[in-house]
Amino acid sequence: MSRNWLEDFDHDNGCYENACVSCRATFFGHKRRVTCKICSALATATAKIEALEAKLAESEGLINEINDARAANWHLQRRRENDQFEWFSSTADSVFGPFPTALEAFAAVRQENTDA
Ligand SMILES: [Zn+2]
Repeated sequence: MSRNWLEDFDHDNGCYENACVSCRATFFGHKRRVTCKICSALATATAKIEALEAKLAESEGLINEINDARAANWHLQRRRENDQFEWFSSTADSVFGPFPTALEAFAAVRQENTDA
């Protein structure tokens, strides 16, 4: 790729020697051109990357959101299954009263052993 804007050459004032404001290199093109053709293409490619990175960040947010929703769903399904067996429930509204779950019971034993 040339730095020159060959498509400008046939137009009036289309073959001026300019200095690129971005890379300072000399290029030929319309006298109103401020950047060479390579720097112009680079700016377009960079803008495309930035737009895609913004979409990627948005997608990653959606992935986090759906993972949180799936985790909450999984948790509620396990709670529903466990509540079919009242002795697993530590909630006060259990017909047997507030019993510890297995994990809470193990934690209590572990705490007792640590204190001893
Ligand atoms: Zn340039």
